[in-house]
Amino acid sequence: MAGELILIVEDNAKNLKLVRDLLQFRGYRTLEASTAERGIALAGEHRPDLVLMDIQLPDLDGVSALGRLRADPATAELRVVALTAFAMQADRERFLAAGFDGYLVKPIDVRQLPEQVRRFCERGAADE
Ligand code: MN
Repeated sequence: MAGELILIVEDNAKNLKLVRDLLQFRGYRTLEASTAERGIALAGEHRPDLVLMDIQLPDLDGVSALGRLRADPATAELRVVALTAFAMQADRERFLAAGFDGYLVKPIDVRQLPEQVRRFCERGAADE
């Protein structure tokens, strides 16, 4: 079992539950937030191994939320992956340029997600 702590910031309840259930089934621990503000607070409190950040959130958009995380020394180094329905090449480049460590495209591919998350977690560990 993996055991890494993953923070899921997603305002769509169905998507949030899907990602949470998939990750928990694989042995990950999860934290969940449905607003950017709550996500930022949880990130600072728990310093998760990986943050999955939705782009369209009710309060701040995911890019601004990432900016807040990067601006705070307590969360600046966290690994943050965009969770996005925007899948055009230009959008992907925009997210990477904004400082995301990667992106996952919605709708979530339930077969691939655990492997994708594992790779993001491993990449993070290798950097340290
Ligand atoms: Mn959303």
